[in-house]
Amino acid sequence: MSMRFYIHTMGCQMNEYDSELISGLLKKEGFEPALSSGEADIVLVNTCAVRELAAEKAYSYLGSILKKDKKSEQTVVMCGCVAEQDGAGALKRMNGIDLVVGPARIREIGRILKIFLKNGKRKDFTGDLSVDWKEDALIDRSSGEKAWVTVSKGCNSFCSYCVVPLARGREESRPAEDIIETAAGLIKTGYREINLLAQNVNTYGKDKKDAGGFPELLSKVAALEGAFRVGFKTAHPRDFSEKILEAAESSKKIMRNFHLPLQSGSDRILKIMNRGYDTKHYLEVAAKVRRLSGSSLTTDIIVGFPGETEEDFEGTLEMFARAAFDSAYMFKYSPRKGTAASKLGDSVPKGVKEERLARLMALQRKTGLASNKPLIGTVQEVLIDGATRSGGKVCGKTLSEKQVFFEAGKELKGFVRVAVASAGPFSLKGELVK
Ligand code: SAH
Ligand code: SF4
Repeated sequence: MSMRFYIHTMGCQMNEYDSELISGLLKKEGFEPALSSGEADIVLVNTCAVRELAAEKAYSYLGSILKKDKKSEQTVVMCGCVAEQDGAGALKRMNGIDLVVGPARIREIGRILKIFLKNGKRKDFTGDLSVDWKEDALIDRSSGEKAWVTVSKGCNSFCSYCVVPLARGREESRPAEDIIETAAGLIKTGYREINLLAQNVNTYGKDKKDAGGFPELLSKVAALEGAFRVGFKTAHPRDFSEKILEAAESSKKIMRNFHLPLQSGSDRILKIMNRGYDTKHYLEVAAKVRRLSGSSLTTDIIVGFPGETEEDFEGTLEMFARAAFDSAYMFKYSPRKGTAASKLGDSVPKGVKEERLARLMALQRKTGLASNKPLIGTVQEVLIDGATRSGGKVCGKTLSEKQVFFEAGKELKGFVRVAVASAGPFSLKGELVK
């Protein structure tokens, strides 16, 4: 019988994509998937390093499987951003880890495993590499409806708090033809939502003379035949170009959610964060996004960055209210090894970070509700999200990526029309239009 593998995924969409790729690569090498870590001969843990808590969760998960499931012959592989950051240190820290494979090395996972299974030598594989994008054609997707398509790897922005450029290396764009071909194949096989994924979609193509920019790529994908939508994540406010709005304006297939992380509403803090824009620039971009009908604006915020005063934080509250975000991911600052900000200490006490986060969340409820209310009485075309349900209701996503819950009656798939009847801070409720 062939050997079986199990992948546990933590962190962001980039890791989810990487896990699906690892699965495809291992299947090609003749390994078979297992349903649980206990049944597997090989356990791969795809870790996240973006905050301390996430990195510690990775080690505690590894600790728990090593205690519970570790048969003497089970091979344990640490992948993802913690693997890249800790390298050989992870092998030292946990005896039960056999292999450490950073994000730039996952396309070699089959070869790495085969060598280990022969020689049993514990080893770390890290460092930045240029990507052989052809391997991505082997991806083993878990959903048949929604697909993430990576358009570039790495990040060159070096925001002072962020570990991503250290863990995922330099930015490298995937050839446009490859992306378009992948998207076309997915649409043909029934995928209805294609999400183009990068740490910063706006810099797509900058490293290649002939690649064209992101708006061009987006328009080309949207011009493919079929009933589908195309979205994108994440757009950096510094590099935002109006061309992306023009592309969206001219196609009904381009999703109208703009995820533009603000991070802080204080110009002083934005500077130390090395974000490359100020609040004035952000508000200009936000205003342009709002002019596109049916658009939504969402964001990421960090509270308690080193030296963040009450006044700085009030700036964040004010910006949040002015931009009237549809929704937001909000985080407590967490110092990360090797980043510029880690040298600044972690001066904002935990209690103050928590209190600021709570105030921001309360504001988010208000702006979220205010952004959802105008949709009451409208009819929205939504894409059914088979995996999400609440109180017997199914969920659909609007073109602006808002969730709408409604009674379906029978099994539904694809696009349907829903009349929005009520709105909450995080989602809408409605009725199916027959
Ligand atoms: N490339 C994306 C996302 C990067 S990580 C972007 O630039 O938008 C996702 C989010 O995690 C960031 O937007 C930021 O809000 C948060 N984050 C990153 N590093 C962090 C840290 N050290 N502490 C707290 N939050 C952090
Ligand atoms: Fe991190 Fe900034 Fe790059 Fe986003 S743009 S991944 S926050 S360094």
